[in-house]
Amino acid sequence: MSQTLLEMAKDLVLASMEAHRLSPEEMHQALQQTYASLQALKTQEDAHGSVPVTTPETPSKPVPWRKSITKHTVMCLECRQSFKQLSVRHLKDHGLDGRSYREKYGIPRTQPLAAKEVTAKRQEIVQRSRPWEKAPTFLKAQRKAQQAGAQRKGTGRKKA
Ligand SMILES: [Zn+2]
Repeated sequence: MSQTLLEMAKDLVLASMEAHRLSPEEMHQALQQTYASLQALKTQEDAHGSVPVTTPETPSKPVPWRKSITKHTVMCLECRQSFKQLSVRHLKDHGLDGRSYREKYGIPRTQPLAAKEVTAKRQEIVQRSRPWEKAPTFLKAQRKAQQAGAQRKGTGRKKA
């Protein structure tokens, strides 16, 4: 490692020698200085690299639920795993369901337990598929209309 540092220092000094026309003594001094500062940097880097990073598995303070729902993920506040959406099956693993989970963390009943983009996409699909059109009364009315249409078509074909 020091070999590399020394080479780096040498290159730097050679470069500044060309730029500033250093005398051999000046060059020697510059080399030592450059090497020292490079080594200091390296030591600093090594220290940073060995600093233990706190793992998300051992959180110290509770996460507010608003923080658990981002654009791309929803985090389970029980186990801190991230999902596209929190399934009933997953909540069941914690002995919870959508309602008790929301109650436990003070999440409004209207808040979908899904990533924002998933919620947005679902709303878009709801808008497009119009589930209210699947209501029995609507379907009945529609079936009647379709039957009437088919009959009209049928008689039309017979005549043609
Ligand atoms: Zn979980």
